[in-house]
Amino acid sequence: MVASRDLPCPSEPLPGRSGAGIAEPIVALAERWADLLVEGHAGLSGRLEVLLRRLSTVLRTEPFRPVAARPVGAALLDTGLAEGDGPLPEDLIPPTLSLLRRDLPGVLDLPTPQGADRLVTALDEFVAGFTAALRERSRPAAHPDARLECAMADCELHYRTLYLQGPVGIGIGDLDGQVLEMNPALYRMFGLLAPPELPRPVTDFVHPDDAVGFIESYHRLRADTGPDSVGIDVRLVRVDELVVWVHVTGSLIRDAAGKPSHVIAVVQDVSDRHRLRSRLEQAASQDRLTRLPNRVVSEQMLRQAFLPGVAHRVGLCALDVDGFTSVNDGLGHQAGDQLLLAVAGRLQMAAGPHLVTRTGGDEFGVLVLEPDGLDDVCRVADRLLTALAAPFHIGGQAVTVSASIGVAEAATAEACPEELMRAADVALSWAKAHGGGERVVFDPERDAGEAARFALLAGLRGAVDRSELQLAFQPLVRLRDGRVRGAEALVRWQHPEQGLLGPGRFIGLAEHNGMIIPIGRWVLAEACRTAAVWWTELGPGSPYVSVNVSPLQLADPDWVREVSAVLEETGLPAEKLQLEITEQAVLGDEAVALDALDALRAAGVRLALDDFGIGYSSLAWLRRLPVHALKIDGSFIDGLRHPSPDPVDQSIVHALIEMAHALGLEVTAEWVETAVQSDRLSRLGCDLGQGRWFGDPGPATWVAELWRRTIR
Ligand code: C2E
Ligand code: MG
Ligand code: MG
Repeated sequence: MVASRDLPCPSEPLPGRSGAGIAEPIVALAERWADLLVEGHAGLSGRLEVLLRRLSTVLRTEPFRPVAARPVGAALLDTGLAEGDGPLPEDLIPPTLSLLRRDLPGVLDLPTPQGADRLVTALDEFVAGFTAALRERSRPAAHPDARLECAMADCELHYRTLYLQGPVGIGIGDLDGQVLEMNPALYRMFGLLAPPELPRPVTDFVHPDDAVGFIESYHRLRADTGPDSVGIDVRLVRVDELVVWVHVTGSLIRDAAGKPSHVIAVVQDVSDRHRLRSRLEQAASQDRLTRLPNRVVSEQMLRQAFLPGVAHRVGLCALDVDGFTSVNDGLGHQAGDQLLLAVAGRLQMAAGPHLVTRTGGDEFGVLVLEPDGLDDVCRVADRLLTALAAPFHIGGQAVTVSASIGVAEAATAEACPEELMRAADVALSWAKAHGGGERVVFDPERDAGEAARFALLAGLRGAVDRSELQLAFQPLVRLRDGRVRGAEALVRWQHPEQGLLGPGRFIGLAEHNGMIIPIGRWVLAEACRTAAVWWTELGPGSPYVSVNVSPLQLADPDWVREVSAVLEETGLPAEKLQLEITEQAVLGDEAVALDALDALRAAGVRLALDDFGIGYSSLAWLRRLPVHALKIDGSFIDGLRHPSPDPVDQSIVHALIEMAHALGLEVTAEWVETAVQSDRLSRLGCDLGQGRWFGDPGPATWVAELWRRTIR
């Protein structure tokens, strides 16, 4: 417990120079003061000397009552200094404050910091007293509402209390950015116990990194065209060099004529808010489970690696745990979390100095700075895979997992972070598609191929609507007499940029994503319209049209109905339409396919099995198919082109023809390119030929023309 005698006695004056010791300096100060206010009127100094003595008493009396300085301020107005030719009363205050703040502590020998603190507070009260007296003097003799006046005085008192004792910092500056005044709360924010020497440029108080934004706001405010008030978060630098985050609200003060005269800044300490924000930012950058940096950080680090002078080469491994969902589903989420934690640990060990990040649920990344080329990054990837190979022990069970890794590496001068990230991700998707458990290195050529296919696919979607598809017709010629019996419709795509594309470029893609359904629908309708024209123009012997059918179409339950509808719409007799199907199409869902084919056959549509011979169909299976014709694949016919034909091909073709005939099927040979092939096939009993020898695919009119020529 502190003994009461150790406490300062209430009446004990503040230490400092007193009595006779201050007489001379006070007189001198009073003279300087008088001279400052009204040049050459040092004679008035006697009155000011009285004021100085009164102020001295206020400052040194215990307990300190700053409000006692008010009547002293009021008395300044009564000195007569601002009368007659003298200055305006309000012009007395600024020079008075500067002088007293600067010289009074020395004259009274006030101890720092306590005395300086008192001086500031006392001078504030001094000013309050002066302004109150001034207002009182200028008040009309009979004020209509004395209560309002009282309320205003109360209000001012409140403001002053707020200014002097409130927790909010308040500063006043001029329009040139010089700070003129600071309240105690504000200079305490700087770690000061007394106000700093003022005026000083406002930028002296702001962190250099925030100065530009701060000055901008200041300019905006004083421009007088923008808002009267602006708010900004800035850092202040304390005297002990600590940084304080504050929110500054600057407002423009206008003079009686409405012209901007000063800026008042209300300054709030918001360090807590910023500390919280930085904690949140940290939380947002760290994966909560593994404590590894998350995707955001991973991307930031990668970007930094590409900054000039950081690294010449950068490698990236994108890792995905294979089958993690089944661990989660099978053993529960808690076990899943444990596994991820264990995986993260092993990866960190295996990665050594390289940064490991968790980029997604079961996805991790390893950033390799300055590798000795791609092989180096691959070695890191291999270490990661090896590290995960041994079983994990989760919840008493041994759990084995594998992972897929996409590896990418680049010179920082030749690539950008986004490219590298994408490359690693693409390579990872290849590794996954390949079954997982391995690392795959990004291959730009493979990527370009896929990108091109992807772009093609995107364009294919609107190709039908934009009428970019067209049909070419290739004659199917009877070998016996050279007559055109039919024509195969072959689709082409007039690509807006790439020109005319054959079906090999896009049919596979279209089958992959289902676009073949609308394409096939268009082909069928267009082919039937064409054949209907032939039929109308050439009569009952006109060529039939042979249309290729994709497995997806055959499996589509609406398809048979669509075929009938097209025949009806175009008026084409069913027997003038042949549909080419492949073994593959029937093998998908055989029962559905056979039902569809039976229905079509019953409707009178011709059916042909295309590309026959390259599949695995047995004779017994072939018997079950309700087809009318077989088209022997062109690869067998190729062997018949030479003067001494390939005996195997010849035997196969011969056997196929015999077999087909035995089943009552008509036989067409594809890719007949020469007269020799045509003759041989004819001798082997083949019914029809199709190929370059009879004509490449061409326009519909050309087929009709050929038919007319060969029919005679
Ligand atoms: P495919 O049904 O076997 O069609 C025969 C292919 O052989 C055609 O190729 C044709 O131009 C080509 N060809 C014709 N004569 C000769 C020749 O003497 N020598 C050689 N080497 N080839 C010849 P194209 O037009 O490129 O069509 C390729 C494949 O695209 C077609 O094979 C067919 O499977 C598919 N296709 C074409 N149009 C369509 C269609 O509208 N729908 C569906 N689903 N597939 C189509
Ligand atoms: Mg075909
Ligand atoms: Mg074919």
